[in-house]
Amino acid sequence: MVKRVLVGYGVDVDAVANWINTCDGSPQNPTNVSRGVFGATVGIDRLLKLFKTHNIRATFFTPAHSIETFPAQLAKVRDAGHEISVSGLHGYTHEYISQLSEKEQRSVLDRSISVITKFTGTKPLGYTAPAWATSKELIPLLEEYGILYDHSFMHHDLQPYFAPDSSHSWVETDVKKEASTWMRPMTKMKPSKIVEIPANWHLDDWPPLQPIPGRPGAQGFVDPHVVERLWMEQFDFAYREYDSFVFPMSIHPQVSGKPQVILMHERIIEYINTHEGVEWMPLCDMAHAFLDGYINGVSVDGGAEV
Ligand SMILES: [Zn+2]
Repeated sequence: MVKRVLVGYGVDVDAVANWINTCDGSPQNPTNVSRGVFGATVGIDRLLKLFKTHNIRATFFTPAHSIETFPAQLAKVRDAGHEISVSGLHGYTHEYISQLSEKEQRSVLDRSISVITKFTGTKPLGYTAPAWATSKELIPLLEEYGILYDHSFMHHDLQPYFAPDSSHSWVETDVKKEASTWMRPMTKMKPSKIVEIPANWHLDDWPPLQPIPGRPGAQGFVDPHVVERLWMEQFDFAYREYDSFVFPMSIHPQVSGKPQVILMHERIIEYINTHEGVEWMPLCDMAHAFLDGYINGVSVDGGAEV
């Protein structure tokens, strides 16, 4: 059996946007904003060089704020032929859609689709939710806006699938209420038209490698060799267990643009390339490969008929 191993980078550009998304409008520390500027400038330049050296086309999920704030840098990405030209929604200013009303989610989609379409000449095909903090409205909205694929959910880690629509429901446990009110199974999931290229915190550079003092889960001082082993052990397992799988890695220019992390990516790319059947591609090509039957993917089952 020939292996089909679809590997790629989803680059969350983020830049300044994720820092100034303080949620309540409170001021951001200018040093943190400067970390975003580093990502948009030095980080993007280093990643583009890495990808060029290894002949990799990547997906750049770009907040519209980053395009409007750093147009010359994002033009380099666009003109290098990366997927920003056909994909890459990541909010306006990295706002968490889990905190927005449906009306505000629409407003952000309208604006960010329009900014990307104007900048690239092509309507974006893909979406990743800022901080992977999703909403019940997300999948129906992506269907309505004609988006091809999403990269925010975790029903599987190594296979594409159709994301469940939002018709299933669950009852959160509220111990202030009688147990009989919350002892309910989740209802049955039904597939949407949106292809899911799964998100995976264990294939994300931010939590282990980006220190944010005082914030749990953003310790940031993990040895990149440890992160490399964590990522490559997932790859080894996938390669042993599956004839075909996707391996999307999520990175940020302000994290992966650091010298010690660039060196980690060089080792990762070289290791992955020692395997037969590896094809590097942007995430939209993984979605097309699933839709075209080039790889099988899985279906997501579960939930009770009620
Ligand atoms: Zn992000």
